[in-house]
Amino acid sequence: MKVFVLNCGSSSVKYQLFDMKDESVLAKGLVERIGSDDATLTHTPVGRTGTKRVLSILDHTTAIGQVLRMLTHSEYGVIKDIAEIRAVGHRVLHGGPAFTQSVLIDEEVKHAIRDCIPLGPLHNPANLMGILASESNIPGVPQVAVFDTAFHQTMPKHAFLYPLPYILYERHKVRRYGFHGTSHRFVSGRAAEILEKPLNNLKVISCHLGNGASIAAVKNGKSIDTSMGLTPLEGLMMGTRSGDIDPAIIFYIMNRENLGLEEIDSLLNKHSGLLGVSGISSDMREIEAGTEQGNNRAKIAFDIYEYRIRKYIGAYAAALDGVDAIVFTAGIGENSPMLRQRVCQGLGFLGVTIDLEKNDSKGKEVDITGESSKIRVLVIPTNEELVIARDTMEIVSAIRKGNLRICYK
Ligand code: AMP
Repeated sequence: MKVFVLNCGSSSVKYQLFDMKDESVLAKGLVERIGSDDATLTHTPVGRTGTKRVLSILDHTTAIGQVLRMLTHSEYGVIKDIAEIRAVGHRVLHGGPAFTQSVLIDEEVKHAIRDCIPLGPLHNPANLMGILASESNIPGVPQVAVFDTAFHQTMPKHAFLYPLPYILYERHKVRRYGFHGTSHRFVSGRAAEILEKPLNNLKVISCHLGNGASIAAVKNGKSIDTSMGLTPLEGLMMGTRSGDIDPAIIFYIMNRENLGLEEIDSLLNKHSGLLGVSGISSDMREIEAGTEQGNNRAKIAFDIYEYRIRKYIGAYAAALDGVDAIVFTAGIGENSPMLRQRVCQGLGFLGVTIDLEKNDSKGKEVDITGESSKIRVLVIPTNEELVIARDTMEIVSAIRKGNLRICYK
């Protein structure tokens, strides 16, 4: 079965076409600057030379139409006919409390995704646009929504509720949702395979450290806590997001700097984190280079970043009442030996040691556990697209067998 995976942003579409016979990727690519006359489509048929085109692409329907044209292109294509695509899987940011797992998209699901727009105002409208654009380009093909929040719906109430007036939870669904769920699910599952232990008897702390960063406590295959909250702003320090701060700072700064709501929102989401502290970059590669060149602000930014991960690992070791494995994933987690080393150096109280030689690796799956370590430490490249493709295939196969689960509230 060929499954088309889409991750639609407000002006971009990322895609991969999978052949689920062997879970191989046939082609992947990206459309950027949708809405303009000089949008770009970068397309790569796997194992062959790709192409980059500048096109007038004014909306998502045209963008997906162009991608489908590429997939069947005489030189760059990987399939003969669009009809070979049997299902489409969509990444959807916010499923609110309604979605505990991936679902087949119907009118009711689209309504529910729309209802979650206040919770995911930047992403859910774009995700929905992608769904509608895909429906109009490939009518009749089943579409599946895979939510970033769904994996964390197993959190207990004491972990997902904020100590705010309860009425805000009842009236406005104010609670922790958590994000990067597909990534945390994938790497914790893979950790169980590597350790050759049943996932339902394993305590994993999963550190997804990319441009956005979150950490999850996964007990017996279920998320019991995670660092992102109502929105992806809470938790760890990120590229441009602050993560946890004293909420009173907001009122204080708004008052002292005479800022409005939009400005403070932008300050916390786009001008904080590694960028805000270092003043040089949101990119960990540049922060590390700055540290090595003796840039003091880069060094402070790195120190805060690393310290906050370590604090969360300590907290989640307590939440889990023990840990079997710590996993590093995503851009920084997979590619920064320096960060992994610094985080693990401070985890001696848990009995963590790492093998520095094995840790000296980038972008590869590797067990970096030290010889005397009481806890396994793993680097596992994440693969959210594969999770989306697998869920999509599973749901579509279940429809064919006539036993689709009802899986939203
Ligand atoms: P992601 O959001 O998972 O794609 O991660 C992107 C981030 O990974 C970039 O912004 C960098 O900060 C980080 N990154 C990528 N490659 C490296 C590397 N070799 N060393 C350190 N950080 C890296």
